[in-house]
Amino acid sequence: MKDFVPDPVEPESFPADPRSLPHAERWLAAIVESSDDAILIESLTGRIASWNAAARRIFGYEAEEAIGQPVSLLAWPGEEQRSEGFLEQLRRGQRVEHFEVARRHKSGRKIFVSLSLSPIVDGSGAIVGIAKIARDITERKTAEEALAEQQLRLAALMEQEARARAEALAEHRFRDLIESAPDAILQVDARGRIVIANRTAETMFGYSHDELMAVNVDALAPEANRANHAERRKDFAAAGETRPMGQGLDLYAQRKDGTQFPVEISLSPVQTESGTYVTAVIRDVTERKQIEQWVHTLQESYVTELAARHQEAERLNQLKSEFMASISHELRTPLHTIIGFAELLGEEANGPLNEKQRRFLHHIQSDSEHLLGLINDVLDLSRIEAGGLNLHTEPLSVREVVCEAVNALLPYAASKSVSLRGSDDLDHRVVADPMRLRQILSNLIHNGVKFTPAGGKVWVEAAADEGFVTITVSDTGVGIPAKECERIFDKFYQVGFTPAGGREGTGLGLTICRHLVEMQGGKIWVESRLRQGSRFHFTLPASHL
Ligand code: ADP
Repeated sequence: MKDFVPDPVEPESFPADPRSLPHAERWLAAIVESSDDAILIESLTGRIASWNAAARRIFGYEAEEAIGQPVSLLAWPGEEQRSEGFLEQLRRGQRVEHFEVARRHKSGRKIFVSLSLSPIVDGSGAIVGIAKIARDITERKTAEEALAEQQLRLAALMEQEARARAEALAEHRFRDLIESAPDAILQVDARGRIVIANRTAETMFGYSHDELMAVNVDALAPEANRANHAERRKDFAAAGETRPMGQGLDLYAQRKDGTQFPVEISLSPVQTESGTYVTAVIRDVTERKQIEQWVHTLQESYVTELAARHQEAERLNQLKSEFMASISHELRTPLHTIIGFAELLGEEANGPLNEKQRRFLHHIQSDSEHLLGLINDVLDLSRIEAGGLNLHTEPLSVREVVCEAVNALLPYAASKSVSLRGSDDLDHRVVADPMRLRQILSNLIHNGVKFTPAGGKVWVEAAADEGFVTITVSDTGVGIPAKECERIFDKFYQVGFTPAGGREGTGLGLTICRHLVEMQGGKIWVESRLRQGSRFHFTLPASHL
């Protein structure tokens, strides 16, 4: 190529006619002229300086039209800058091989060329122009483009097909789902004609598919309800909202053979171009109803059984209490005889007793008294529990009853060296059963003395407050641990030992006291401090008489 332009020349003056060139050059120029590729030279000012026959054919311009024109003549909008980027590469004397680019034919048509660029340098190595060889690849490119377009179209087609297939698949699945649903599914038009029915609907109602398609949906309601069903159906279509059918009612459906079965139905309206349809999902609840019925029956028999057992338990309890009452009574009679005769012996009316006999007699007397107390407690509690204890309440002087109880226990207190007294503020009146009030007081005072060491004190006070009188029995005894203060009122509950170290009593006294106080409209409680003493309070309704 270097030989092709031996002298540094002004590009515009590149000879266009090979015949004006010397022999070797003419020869070279002939090659250029006969090349299948367009060969043109671009001057440094960007103008076309040389133009061969192939250039004429490829771009459509005659040499006279092209030479001297700016190369932008051939540019395709958007691609004109591409070759300029290679200038740096060319300056370094390198070729730029084959890049494909769009160009414009004289007719305005788009053509594609594969371009190679080479610098044209003068003797000093300075670039004086660019030789461009352009091969027409329009045909190939067009074919490629057509192919690409075809491929795109094919891909789009395939996509469409896939989409259609997916829809078909979804529809198929949906149908499968409906078909295999455990509920009967029906779609009904505005007139009640069945338009869709799944397999479950066939088996549930005992119709074939064709038969279902031929009957009105009202025929699936029990005979007696059909007229009503048709009415309701119209109401539902008018309201047009999804809801369960016959809320709160026991719904039934009827099979082809006339038998009926309980159902649950959910309705939803479906608006389509051809009108309003209603989809009904129907569940056969026979089994569930049976289970419900079964549970109900079971529950009823359980309740009946429970009531019977309760009654039986009450009867046995009553029997037990009656038995306890009668056995206590039977025990008391001989015990009274023993006590009576022991007393007679003690009087020594039939001759004096020696010291040993007196001691034996004392044992007989104290144990008999103890036994009598125990039997009395058991008898009382049995009577209370059997509801057989009757109270005879009347207005009473607290002082009177307290004095009686205190006096009766003075000997016992004296025997234990415990001081016992009623205080001065006892002038109150209550409504109570005198015998039972005395029993309560005796119990509390007896306990007070029992749980107080020698030298201690027991005393009884009373105070009126808001329609009640509170009577308090206090002692300076062993006291009761705080956590036991509630439990001591339970049956047979005993905290520990008496100061004498033994266990006396039955653990029934306070239980009986609580029953007796509550039966008379009052309540009982205790305040206590260990080793300092206890205060048992109970209330009774005040009397103004
Ligand atoms: P008991 O026959 O054992 O006295 P109670 O029901 O009368 O039965 O008393 C239950 C328990 O309460 C007694 O065993 C004793 O532990 C405790 N208790 C009752 N009164 C007193 C008291 N004044 N001081 C200390 N402990 C008492």
